[in-house]
Amino acid sequence: METMLGSCLIIGSLTVLVLRSFLWRLAKNILPTKDNLRKKGILLDETCSLCNSAPETALHLFMDCAFARQVFSSSVLSYHILENMDICNWLRSMLVCGDFLSAQILSSLIHKVWTARNMQLYQQKACSLLAVASVAEFNLRNPEANRFLFS
Ligand SMILES: [Zn+2]
Repeated sequence: METMLGSCLIIGSLTVLVLRSFLWRLAKNILPTKDNLRKKGILLDETCSLCNSAPETALHLFMDCAFARQVFSSSVLSYHILENMDICNWLRSMLVCGDFLSAQILSSLIHKVWTARNMQLYQQKACSLLAVASVAEFNLRNPEANRFLFS
């Protein structure tokens, strides 16, 4: 039992580290989005893998993409992204809002959008919008899982 509990804590800590690293890379605009890969000389189709309607940049993928917007709005948060906000200000407003659980859920949702993008791009597997949005329910049931995320 203790070993199992220890494993859960390790998995929870790894999840937190992955999420923190992901948010940091997003804020620094160094995620390997198609526009960033193009800047490094890797030529790909530059269209967003999730909606196929705009060039894939971090700003599009997480703030403008119809898929991401629907994930956020159909989640338990019913979250709607404000217009005319850049990613850093968006992340800052989310992380300092004082609502730890909402920040935690939204962070997970953003990461799940990235995971859905990667599955679509590299494995040609489409993720259902509701499956991505449902990650919030897991976090609501396990609020301690990522308790070190913002410490
Ligand atoms: Zn898109």
